[in-house]
Amino acid sequence: MNLQRFSRQSPPRSFPLYVLSFLLISVFAQSAAGQSCGTHGVVAQVLGSGGPELQDKRASSSYLIWEDGRPRVLVDAGGGSALRFGQSGAQMSQLDVILFTHFHVDHSADFPALIKSSWFEDRKRPLPVYGPPGNEYMPSTTEFVDDLFGDKGAYRYLSELLVPTEQGSYKIQPHNVEAGSTPVEVFHDHGLSVSAVHVIHGAVPALAWRVEIDHKSIVFSGDTNGDDPGLVRLAQNADLFIAHNAVPEGAEGIERRLHMPPSVIGQIAAAAHVKMLALSHRMLRTLGQEDQTLFQIKKSYSGPVVFANDLDCFSMK
Ligand SMILES: [Zn+2]
Repeated sequence: MNLQRFSRQSPPRSFPLYVLSFLLISVFAQSAAGQSCGTHGVVAQVLGSGGPELQDKRASSSYLIWEDGRPRVLVDAGGGSALRFGQSGAQMSQLDVILFTHFHVDHSADFPALIKSSWFEDRKRPLPVYGPPGNEYMPSTTEFVDDLFGDKGAYRYLSELLVPTEQGSYKIQPHNVEAGSTPVEVFHDHGLSVSAVHVIHGAVPALAWRVEIDHKSIVFSGDTNGDDPGLVRLAQNADLFIAHNAVPEGAEGIERRLHMPPSVIGQIAAAAHVKMLALSHRMLRTLGQEDQTLFQIKKSYSGPVVFANDLDCFSMK
């Protein structure tokens, strides 16, 4: 397998002119086709590579899985990611399923923006949405959707999306996923399989997701401190493991209870034998620390490691 990355971000000024020309041609061709990641094979696209801080100049967490130019799975919808979704060339009418790792703002704030945009598209089939159960701090997935679009929700003017009344409108179908430390398949459709495990993210109910499609596998850690053994099981032999690089080595206290430092990311990637590791959810406290991050990861994981940027495409061939 050859895992390849290409990006739509501006190249550095030191790029030779012929490389710049190639990139411009490449971007133009992609725009003409409508899909920013090409039209062949399985591609994981980063819609949001940042954390909650707007000063990181990145959209917050969100990822899109493409198959042969068709966007099939959306994982999370943090702030800014709806714009990236539009830039990617995807349409809400094309998605098979939306997955949430948890409902912190930086993973869910643009969900209503995506749903409103879909109002103007020709979607007829239901849109399944899977995410964690709730607790005293956070809503469950069904509560989250109801809090937005239910009869008493903030956007109740769109409640038809939960209880369709007009012919032609589609229905959002939210589900709470009660996963443990053994991967459980929660969705299967036309060669697409989606499974989850519970992960520890402080007191916030949280899931990690594995998407298998056309014999390729992509695993999303979501936000977690890495303590639950389920993540290693879920990520076993994954073609791509997207892990969240939210804290530097040596983080303590609440930061460490919420997130895994680079050494733990490396240990999980190594134990799971993942074929490639991409680091996302990059925050002000980890941006600029890339050398130290790589140093810690390389102590245990010897495979390829990349730092994700918005709109990067990771193509699995
Ligand atoms: Zn979080």
